[in-house]
Amino acid sequence: MSQAGTVRALEDVSFSLEKGESIGIAGESACGKSTLGLSIMRMLQGGKIVSGDILLEGESILNISESEFAKKHRKKNVAMVFQGAMNSLDPVFTIEEQFIEVLKQHQYDGDFKKKISEMLSSVGLKNNVLKKYPHELSGGMKQRIVIAMALLLGPKFVIADEPTTALDVLVQAQIINLLKKLKKDGMSIMLITHDLPIISEIAEKIGIMYGGKMVEFGTAHDIYKNPKHPYTQALLESIPSLRSKKIPKYIKGNPPSLIKPPEGCRFYDRCPQAMEKCKKDPPKFKTDSGYVLCWLYE
Ligand code: SF4
Repeated sequence: MSQAGTVRALEDVSFSLEKGESIGIAGESACGKSTLGLSIMRMLQGGKIVSGDILLEGESILNISESEFAKKHRKKNVAMVFQGAMNSLDPVFTIEEQFIEVLKQHQYDGDFKKKISEMLSSVGLKNNVLKKYPHELSGGMKQRIVIAMALLLGPKFVIADEPTTALDVLVQAQIINLLKKLKKDGMSIMLITHDLPIISEIAEKIGIMYGGKMVEFGTAHDIYKNPKHPYTQALLESIPSLRSKKIPKYIKGNPPSLIKPPEGCRFYDRCPQAMEKCKKDPPKFKTDSGYVLCWLYE
C-alpha cells in the first residue's frame, strides 16, 4: 500500500528449485525482483501476499504463524543476503560482536567461536577480521562477512539480492566464485540481479521479470540461446559485448505503473511486436523448459 494506492508488486510468478540448483532473477529496477525474495522470507514491510503459496520442501510457509516461521525456517532453512547488506554492518561493533549477536538472537546452543570460525573460512576469510570494525575492511570483505552471517545457521536455500552491485570486477569475481562453491556444497541459490552476464556464471534456471510478472522462465541455456519474450530479447540485446562491434540496444519508454497496471500485456507500450489482442490478458504458454507470457507463442 502506498499513498497513491495499492501497488500490485508481484503477480503470476511460479518456479521451482531443486537442492544444489540455482535460479537467476533478472529485470529492470522496480520489476518485483526484491519483492519476490522478501515474500519468500516473509519480510514484506507494509505488504501482504493475497493469494498463492510458497512451498519449502513440499510444506507451505504461508500457512504457519510468523513466530513459527521465524523459529523453524528463517536463517535455518532459508536466508537472504539483502541488497546493500554490507552497509548494514553496525559501525560501532566489531565483526565478532555482530556475529555473536546473530547467534544469540537465534538461540544457537553450540560453540560460538568454532561456528564463527567455520563460517569465515567458508567465505575465504581468516579469524583476524573478527576484532576489526566494518570501516577497517574492504567492500569485498564486508560482503563476504554479510554472506557468512546469512549462512551462520546452515540454510539450505539462500536468496542473494544484488550481491555484487557496487563492487569492483575483481571482488565481483570473488563473490561469484563463493556462490559457485556454496552451490557445489549442495545449497540452492536464488540470485537477484539486473546483470544477466553474472547470472550466466552460476544459474541453471532463469526467471525474467517485467512489471511485477515473471514474463519468461526456463533453463539458462534456452533463455540465452533462444529467448522468446520480446522483453527478454531486448534485455539480452542491451548487453554490450567485447567480441562484437554491434551497438547495444536500449528499450524505449518506461515500465508500467503497478498501482494501475495495464489490463493486457504489461510490455505492450514498449513492445515492437505488439498486436491488438495483446491488450487483453497475456496468456501463459509452455516452452521447452518453462513458460512465456506472450501471444506470439499461441
Ligand atoms: Fe509483445 Fe504482445 Fe508478446 Fe506482449 S503479448 S510481449 S505486446 S507480442
